[in-house]
Amino acid sequence: MMTTMKTAASVKTTCPYCGVGCGVNLTLPHSASEAVPPVSGDEGHPANFGRLCVKGSSLAQTIQSDDRLLTPMVDGQSVAWGAAIETVSAKIAQVVRDHGPDAFAFYLSGQILTEDYYVANKLAKGFIGTANVDTNSRLCMASAVVGYKRAFGSDTVPCNYEDLELCDLLIMVGSNAAWTHPILYQRIAAAKKQRPNMKVVVIDPRETATCDIADLHLAIKPGSDAAIFSFLLSDSVQTGILDQGFVANHTNGFEAALVEASESTPSLSYTADFCGISEQNLACLASWWRDIPKTVTFYSQGVNQSSSGVDKCNAIINCHLATGRIGKEGAGPFSITGQPNAMGGREVGGLANQLAAHMDFATPGAQDLVQRFWQAPNMATKDGLKAVDLFQAMEEGKVKVVWIMSTNPMVSLPDTAQVRRALEKCELVIVSDCKAHTDTTAMADVLFPATGWSEKDGTVTNSERRISRQRGLLPAPGEAKHDWWAICEVAKSLGFQSAFSYQNVYEIFAEHAALSAFENNGRRDFDIGHFSQISKAEYDALTPVQWPVPKGRPEGTKRMFEGGRFFTPDGRARFVAITPSLPKYQASQEWPFTLNTGRVRDQWHTMTRTGDAASLAKHTAQPYVEIHPKDAKRLGIKDKALVRLTSPYGEALLKAKVSGAVVPDNVFAPIHWTQQFANASVVSNLIPQVVDPLSGQPESKHAQVQLEAVSDICYGLLVSAVPLVLSECLYWCQVPSEQGFHYEVVWPNGQTLASLKAIYIEQSKGLAERVEWLEYSNPVTQQIRLAKLMDQKLTLLMYLHPQPESVMADWLISKLEINTSLSLQDRLAILVGSPANMEDKGEIVCSCYQVGSKQIEKAIASGICSVDELGGKLKCGTNCGSCLPELKRFIPTVAELSV
Ligand code: SF4
Repeated sequence: MMTTMKTAASVKTTCPYCGVGCGVNLTLPHSASEAVPPVSGDEGHPANFGRLCVKGSSLAQTIQSDDRLLTPMVDGQSVAWGAAIETVSAKIAQVVRDHGPDAFAFYLSGQILTEDYYVANKLAKGFIGTANVDTNSRLCMASAVVGYKRAFGSDTVPCNYEDLELCDLLIMVGSNAAWTHPILYQRIAAAKKQRPNMKVVVIDPRETATCDIADLHLAIKPGSDAAIFSFLLSDSVQTGILDQGFVANHTNGFEAALVEASESTPSLSYTADFCGISEQNLACLASWWRDIPKTVTFYSQGVNQSSSGVDKCNAIINCHLATGRIGKEGAGPFSITGQPNAMGGREVGGLANQLAAHMDFATPGAQDLVQRFWQAPNMATKDGLKAVDLFQAMEEGKVKVVWIMSTNPMVSLPDTAQVRRALEKCELVIVSDCKAHTDTTAMADVLFPATGWSEKDGTVTNSERRISRQRGLLPAPGEAKHDWWAICEVAKSLGFQSAFSYQNVYEIFAEHAALSAFENNGRRDFDIGHFSQISKAEYDALTPVQWPVPKGRPEGTKRMFEGGRFFTPDGRARFVAITPSLPKYQASQEWPFTLNTGRVRDQWHTMTRTGDAASLAKHTAQPYVEIHPKDAKRLGIKDKALVRLTSPYGEALLKAKVSGAVVPDNVFAPIHWTQQFANASVVSNLIPQVVDPLSGQPESKHAQVQLEAVSDICYGLLVSAVPLVLSECLYWCQVPSEQGFHYEVVWPNGQTLASLKAIYIEQSKGLAERVEWLEYSNPVTQQIRLAKLMDQKLTLLMYLHPQPESVMADWLISKLEINTSLSLQDRLAILVGSPANMEDKGEIVCSCYQVGSKQIEKAIASGICSVDELGGKLKCGTNCGSCLPELKRFIPTVAELSV
């Protein structure tokens, strides 16, 4: 009997961030005026068994946002839903009539639910008649999809999370899972602790937090990954570990793939040189590969975001097919998705080169099958435009209406300047979002207020094919509506009433399940026919399950390809002949640095949700660029100084982080900061629109750039009780805080106390007698400190210094508009930058318990010498565990201790 998953006060739902798909318990506050209580991990969920990383643990802080979009807006005016729907459907009808169906496009997101995706895909591909349905998942895993399809005939992830724990050799390629998929990383770390003989290899140009558990780190030349696997393929033959039975009975194309691999990576020394690693390290990997059959290769954006991402995926898969390391416990090529529902989007066909339910336009009979199932009047007949092509077609005037849902292409797509031109050219830009202000909502003609994570109802699928429910608990605020509802209303307004007349979201799920099973008979991998008659009560009680879940197999499917049969016409997997290649643009005299991009531990995508949590901002408060110390010295760049990065496409201002984690001539920058949080730090400005020719996935991990220290500037901190317009600043970054507003700023040189006062004196017009200024300036050090008190309470504070300086920002912010007047002691402390009796924590390392670097260093100086002891003393690392790799780096090694 199914257990109910929802009571009046709490639900079991799924984390809205990464592709691990952790189960979450969400509880209602006792009254509407109370904050939502902290969420907890669902102990019964097989992805996380009760654990949450720091982002998941902080979800409650992000639920009540001041920036919710609460009503539909047309041309900046609030309107009723009916009027907004009418505006949108009238324009879609007009452009389709005048220019054909391909003048319309959806640009969707791996954050929306499977049911939202399903109706969007159905409306576009079956009723409007265009396959222009693409998604930000194109930026995340499109290359992995094509790689699987080339090899298996289907987009099938063979493995599950248990395989990561059960393997004896884990090769992690292009993945900083410690920060991007923390709960999976912790499961791996726990398995390795239990079985120390388990080997972990990290292949990544950078030394990341994930390297903490690595037995071997191959810091390869950016983009050279495929050569490693081409070499392993030919080496597998030479060392006699080929699984000849598997190759002969279950695959095609081995000889051609081997010839290509042998020619392109003829020797260990050639391959090591191509990849920029030592022969010794490559030989070590090869020997482990030879000796340890239970191998999983775990890969993510570092492989996928490449102009040859699909080939890299197939180079990996080739090795697993050649050695029969697939369809077995603890073995397989395992691509991990970045987003919570990238997999759900793939299931419904929510990519422009898919049709529906894992069928493509090229699948024989598929168009007819889907048309009959949907009773569709206007079936699309060919692939639509993939993300980058879509925005180029928009700029060319070919796509005239775009409906963007839950994503921020103004920040996430490469070459932001082009994306802006495209959206400016587009005749109607519709944006569905729960936030009022994003870089993309700023470009919209029509805004639809969408429900957010704690309000939405539906399903998502994680990286191991596990379908879980997201359950809404809180009421939708204002006029916010579910995305599926808005799509169906537009569809009905376009005249498609009967096909979009769903009353409840479970009806959509049931139809999606029925389509997956329709005339399937085991021919297609994606079959969840067991749910095609699901009732509302069963849907509400649905427990996590891995697809396929065909009729008669309600327990789902843990692992794929156990019988060695694939979804190609002859049932055999295909080897693909691969010639490894490097990224399209290489560093040059004019553009001497190679830029790699990625994520930080405590932020998610473009910060539209995590940016609301003050505690998450403390780990990494500002956008930065990691620079090797040699390069920094040569260019005169000091740690924390402002750096200008320029590429042929644009520029970005970032703070320098001088670090040996990157190699010389290479820099790294995280991608999260938007213009809502920083005026000039959108990293996508720098990225070219280079894509993989097969998957259309952009090469977002690679750009050529120049670096220069920004000179003639002074650094500052601003805290204010009200938001500030900082147009006079060269650079500003708003750091989320519990109260008031905290900005890190850079001004052009030459500021004086008088000029700064003048800027903010306007705000106090007519209130002069209530305003008091506290002032300090030092002509020798050029320090300036200025505080504005209104009725003896602090409302504004400015610090300026020629160099970046550390002050206790949290304490200063805590003094904003406190109920009592500032004491003399506080007045002095404000001008000093810290109170005399308070410990400076340093930079926050453990977000859960707000433990900083200086506290950790002090504890170690007092004799603590293990992470466990640190946890015992300071509690750091004892909750979500996301900071454990960083904590380990504080612990002196035996060698250091003996010096
Ligand atoms: Fe959410 Fe963290 Fe789990 Fe990812 S690992 S799903 S971000 S709790």
